[in-house]
Amino acid sequence: MSETLILTKRWGKPNSATLESYRQDGGYQALDKALGMDPAAVVDEVKKSNLRGRGGAGFATGLKWTFLPKDVRPRYLTVNADESEPGTFKDRYIIEHDPHMLLEGIALTCYALDIHLAYIYIRGEFAKQARALEKAIAEANAAGIIGPRLLGKKDFDLQISVHRGAGAYICGEESALLESLEGKKGYPRLKPPFPAVVGLWGKPTIINNVETIANVPWIVANGGEAFAALGVGKSGGTRLFGVSGHVNRPGVYEKPVHYNLKKLIMEDAGGIVGGRKLKAVIPGGSSAPVLAASEIDISLEFDAVKAAGSMSGSGGVIVFDESTCMVRALARISKFYAEESCGQCTPCREGTSWMEGIVEKIEHGHATAADVAKLEQVAGNIAGQTICALGDAAAMPVQSFLKKFKHEFLQHVEERRCPHGDHGWGLDQ
Ligand code: NAD
Ligand code: SF4
Repeated sequence: MSETLILTKRWGKPNSATLESYRQDGGYQALDKALGMDPAAVVDEVKKSNLRGRGGAGFATGLKWTFLPKDVRPRYLTVNADESEPGTFKDRYIIEHDPHMLLEGIALTCYALDIHLAYIYIRGEFAKQARALEKAIAEANAAGIIGPRLLGKKDFDLQISVHRGAGAYICGEESALLESLEGKKGYPRLKPPFPAVVGLWGKPTIINNVETIANVPWIVANGGEAFAALGVGKSGGTRLFGVSGHVNRPGVYEKPVHYNLKKLIMEDAGGIVGGRKLKAVIPGGSSAPVLAASEIDISLEFDAVKAAGSMSGSGGVIVFDESTCMVRALARISKFYAEESCGQCTPCREGTSWMEGIVEKIEHGHATAADVAKLEQVAGNIAGQTICALGDAAAMPVQSFLKKFKHEFLQHVEERRCPHGDHGWGLDQ
């Protein structure tokens, strides 16, 4: 399997975030190459690359770009840097270590799609990363890389603006993000129309994740086919996987998109802490269905994880060892979604709090078997019934924890206490 590094190859180098360092390593040469190409040819390379969205949904990036209506102007690019899904921690490191790689990806995307204003919507808590972006944008402007003439060579005006969120998870949902960017409360919009057709201020808007856009310079420099060859089938390239939980070496690992999940945990991340046994894994951020230890010998490619009953999502791999109380872990996840529901639609607003309350009751030994059945019923009434994906994101962990670990829930009921006592490890420890 290839060990090509695209996104992390400059991490750890002194001053990697500076323009000087980026240029020393060949930075902005892909943009130079693209300026000699027809914009449509740049789009073709991205299509050929089989790049799929790294925010979590895995939608084909080149295909999304083709949804822009041909004759409507202005059109916008919005880079989603709101990274808030529990277990997900990768975009922040791209921004911190290599902001110019992201800026070059933005410039290439804008050139390809005839976009002249790009926003980077960044999670409010990422103050350090926001400063790194502001600094890199100032450097790129001062050097004439962006601004009125791309690379000082091509009459193509490009402005890049950083917009900081205010800490609401829902503003990472693309249509809520647009509302927030427009200065309104971050309520998700009904889709369709999708943002590519009706987006920011009613204009066509491409919204891509940080990692997605950061791949574009490599694709243009090396060709779409070379990127596709790093992956498998309709999924090209490498991906950043963030491994957290009960492993010896938690961290961000860049691996081919179809890397084996078990190998990632047991070899790259150093196996389970204290030599304990593995109990379960959430392979793609907290909204993805949980897998039992026996189910993790799989490819991490989007469709392969789906076939195994979960989601590769945002690449956040959360590992639970045998000492974990799965009820307590679910209580922590359910609390998060109840807290972050925007309250706009009833099944999510009422259901997420209801689920949180029932899981807490089970964890503390105050529930009956009927409460466990009720929990299953409430989750079933949320899934697929809401305006945005947060409803599903809250219901899926509940459904999968109950499917795979129901015996633990019933044990809490029977013993009228948490069998793990005060020593069960939830996500809050
Ligand atoms: P989605 O499948 O609805 O859409 C994916 C993308 O494709 C969107 O940009 C959408 O506009 C576009 N799209 C889909 N169909 C289209 C069409 N017919 N025409 C034009 N565009 C189209 O998924 P979503 O709701 O955007 O995202 C859900 C995912 O987000 C989850 O799977 C989860 O993994 C992930 N997520 C990530 C984070 C994070 O911090 N990275 C946080 C929360 C959720
Ligand atoms: Fe808001 Fe939840 Fe409805 Fe999404 S599903 S719009 S977060 S209430």
